[in-house]
Amino acid sequence: MTQFLFRDDAYLRECPATVTAVDERGFQTDATVFYPLGGGQPGDIGRFELEDGPEDARVVEITDTVKGDGPDGIIHKPGAGSALLKVGQHGILKLDWERRHRLMRMHTCLHLLSALVPFPVTGGQVSDGKGRLDFDMADQIPDKETLTAKLNALIQGDHAVTARWITDEELLNSPELVKTMAVKPPMGLGRVRLIEVVGIDRPLDLQACGGTHVGRTGEIGAVNVRKVENKGRQNRRVNIEFAA
Ligand SMILES: [Zn+2]
Repeated sequence: MTQFLFRDDAYLRECPATVTAVDERGFQTDATVFYPLGGGQPGDIGRFELEDGPEDARVVEITDTVKGDGPDGIIHKPGAGSALLKVGQHGILKLDWERRHRLMRMHTCLHLLSALVPFPVTGGQVSDGKGRLDFDMADQIPDKETLTAKLNALIQGDHAVTARWITDEELLNSPELVKTMAVKPPMGLGRVRLIEVVGIDRPLDLQACGGTHVGRTGEIGAVNVRKVENKGRQNRRVNIEFAA
């Protein structure tokens, strides 16, 4: 069982860790700050710096992070040619923080986008520097310039982004909290995390989400709606990128 430290604090850049399992897929640890691919957000990259061992084998590059077997497993994928790890080895897991922070900013921006376009979200993807959401809509095609201006207004509003936990059962009784049906929040741990973008008298956005977010929308920085694509009769894809 791995402690998911990023769930409670997305700003942790590193943590001490002990190897608990190694197989052909990669290695697992007792705790990690590495987010595993899922919910439309890529897995983290970075490195594992070992406490001891031969001088030339103390750093293992991590090229991807994925979910393990079960809801509480996370597998770090070592780069080709890395030293083989053994269960019980200690070290420090260190994120590629610059990249992760860009992913957090874009991920949070997609929450704002989903709040501005009042249609069901059927899919989404965050990648380094850009992101997109697919909406189940036929006719009302959002205007790029208007959407860009509205997004940047919410970003400049510097709204707080907060998290709290509810039980799986409470979530099942409130289906409106799952906006992205194609990207279900992680369940099976007994509780799911609700992310709120705090508004003036009601939430700007409130939904179950397992990803990593910035603490205030101002941290996202200016964005552009790059294009709005027609992806079929009932599907409009809104693509976003950082302005700078
Ligand atoms: Zn999220």
